[in-house]
Amino acid sequence: MTKAYTLNAADGQQYSSPTPGRLGGHRRARIYGRLDCPSALRAIAAGQYVTHRVFFADEPTAVAAGYRPCAVCMTEAYRRWKSHR
Ligand SMILES: [Zn+2]
Repeated sequence: MTKAYTLNAADGQQYSSPTPGRLGGHRRARIYGRLDCPSALRAIAAGQYVTHRVFFADEPTAVAAGYRPCAVCMTEAYRRWKSHR
């Protein structure tokens, strides 16, 4: 059986992909970050994150979907985002 991954597209729609997303995101907070982000993993462990978890194929898709970079694990992108808003 082929595993399918549910990813978030640039228009906010979910779609099925044969490859896993490279970035994770929080649907409510509209933040994206690395899958191993310590901040996200803490939130997941606390049980408050999973229901809002989304995945993106890459960074441009996350940005196009209206998400902003995580300040914890994407510090470079976050600084760029902050200085351009
Ligand atoms: Zn993060």
